[in-house]
Amino acid sequence: MKEQQKESKKQFMESLSIEINNCKKCDLWKTRNKPLVGDGSINAEILVIGESPGYYEDLQGKAFVGEAGKILDNLLGLVNLKRKGIYITNVLKCHPPRNHNPNRQEIDSCIGYLYKQIDIIKPKIILTLGKFASKEIFDKFNLDFTRISELRGRVFEAETNFGKMKIIPLYHPAVACYHNEMIGELKKDFEKLGLLMKN
Ligand code: SF4
Repeated sequence: MKEQQKESKKQFMESLSIEINNCKKCDLWKTRNKPLVGDGSINAEILVIGESPGYYEDLQGKAFVGEAGKILDNLLGLVNLKRKGIYITNVLKCHPPRNHNPNRQEIDSCIGYLYKQIDIIKPKIILTLGKFASKEIFDKFNLDFTRISELRGRVFEAETNFGKMKIIPLYHPAVACYHNEMIGELKKDFEKLGLLMKN
C-alpha cells in the first residue's frame, strides 16, 4: 500500500476516533469511562468484530483485556497472528452497564462508526465474534443470518465497494470462560481460518 494511502487512512481513523470520543448518540455515553474505538493495525487484512467493550475494556479503553482476551490471543497464536497484525473493534463502542445485550436503539446509533471503519480499513477477511456482531455484519452485506451455532466456522463472501471480502462468523471467545469444553470448538474454527490464510 502506498504511503499516501496509509496516511489518509490514518487521518480518517483519527477523525472518527475524535467523533466517537465525543459521541452522545445513545445513553451509553452517560456511564462509559472510555469508548473503545479499536486496537491494532488499520492496514491489517483481518478485521475482528466483537459485541461491546466489557468492564475492564471500558476502564482501560483497550480491546479484549481479561480472560476472553487471553483466549483470543491463544486462538490467534494458533494461526500465527498477533494483535498488532489485525484490527479489533466492536459493534458498540461504549460499555453497556452490567454487560446487557446491545439493544436495537444502541446498535442503530452506533453501527455507522463500524461501517466507516470497514471502509477505512478495507479488510480482506472479517471475523465476527458471537451472534450480535455476526448478525449485524450479515445484515449489512445482505447475507442470511440464522444461528451462530449453524454458521460458525463457515466462510461467506461479500461484495463491497473495495472488492470481494470474506466473512467468518465465530463463537465469542468469552463462551470458553464459562464453558471450558467450547475451547475445542473455537480452535477448530480458527484452524479453518489458518487454511484460508494459506490459500
Ligand atoms: S455506544 Fe456508540 S452511539 Fe452510543 S454513545 Fe457510545 S459511541 Fe455513541
